[in-house]
Amino acid sequence: MTKPFGPLPPEFAYQHGSLTIAGRTATEWFAQYGSPVFVYDPAIIAARIALFRSAMPAGVDLHYAVKANPYAPLLAAITPLVDGLDVASGGELALALDHKPAASISFAGPGKRDAELKVAIVAGATLNVESEGEARRAFAIGDRLGIAPRLAVRVNPDIELRGSGMKMGGRPSPFGIDAERSAALVREIRDAEADWRGFHIFAGSQALDSEAIVETQAATLALAARLSDEAGASPPLVNLGGGFGIPYFAGDTPVDLGRIGDALSDGLASRASILAETRFAIELGRWLVGECGVYLTRIVDRKVSRGETFLIVDGGLHHQLAASGNFGTVVRRNYPVAVAHATGAEATETVSVVGCLCTPLDRLADRVALPRADVGDVIAIFLAGAYGVTASPTAFLGHPAPIEVLATAS
Ligand SMILES: *Cc1c(COP(=O)(O)O)cnc(C)c1O
Repeated sequence: MTKPFGPLPPEFAYQHGSLTIAGRTATEWFAQYGSPVFVYDPAIIAARIALFRSAMPAGVDLHYAVKANPYAPLLAAITPLVDGLDVASGGELALALDHKPAASISFAGPGKRDAELKVAIVAGATLNVESEGEARRAFAIGDRLGIAPRLAVRVNPDIELRGSGMKMGGRPSPFGIDAERSAALVREIRDAEADWRGFHIFAGSQALDSEAIVETQAATLALAARLSDEAGASPPLVNLGGGFGIPYFAGDTPVDLGRIGDALSDGLASRASILAETRFAIELGRWLVGECGVYLTRIVDRKVSRGETFLIVDGGLHHQLAASGNFGTVVRRNYPVAVAHATGAEATETVSVVGCLCTPLDRLADRVALPRADVGDVIAIFLAGAYGVTASPTAFLGHPAPIEVLATAS
């Protein structure tokens, strides 16, 4: 039984039947850098950002969620094109501070240690506080240092992003302060003479349903207005979250940025007066960088077992966990996959592409129809630009770390 795989991203050229990334064939990248390798094309990221800018209304900033891909050359390429960086650990904060002024960096995430709070406060980055306790620790550190900490309240909203891969609202959550307690914390922050920066409201991830995103953004705006009224203060910034998905699987279609931008324009034009002076931000990770990356891995062995053909590659889930279906998905489905030198060729056989790890979980493509490929050929797994290397168990089984390359056009 053959299973489908996701659509090959149209951003890449498939010249003469071969995949090319930034003007070079996969085989050329491979020859220069070895195997396995992640190649990222920054031109694809720049095109994404241009699309965002053309679709979204003025006054909506674009933030990059660094955890999607913190590879330093990629971060250096993306930083001048975005308005802010959102980080989720002290390590990411240190990296972000190398690239962007602290005033445009915000730090979310549960369990921030005092040392992390201190670095952010000294630098002047915004802390998106995740609990009352964390806010109070920030006050105490700020008092000791004589610095008013910049604090935004991350809200655990009572809305969910319908159709998103991960739901983070409307239920108990380690993330954010329950909406019904958020205004009280804003008052406490202001009473403590900290620098209240506004609200961070993130309702979910990997949504492809544009109407669901439109509804969620409208509900988020309404929630921000309600909480501001309750707190009796206008927020300088409301981070509306993000959650724009990318088409990983068969049948998936891209989000409609034009539709989302038009609806947000209307929503902002008629927003509550308490938000009149507020800036807004959308924070995106995978939508910005997911499609720019391809994971290239060489076939080491080809074998048949009880009627199933296996292509065994030198990569695996230790580099690209998400493609194996073991990173936040309920049902395992196939990422877009191709034989790199034969992308235009007709499929002639059904194969499973498995990695080199000694675990049955290490299946990168399950019973897909591909052209014939042999030992030494290159398999390309797409959508490797987000949640790849750093979201994978690279130490597991002691194989070499993957190579990453930011392509420059040749
Ligand atoms: C992970 C995360 C993001 C990025 O999510 P994507 O699905 O990659 O866009 C944005 N905001 C917050 C708060 C996150 O935790």
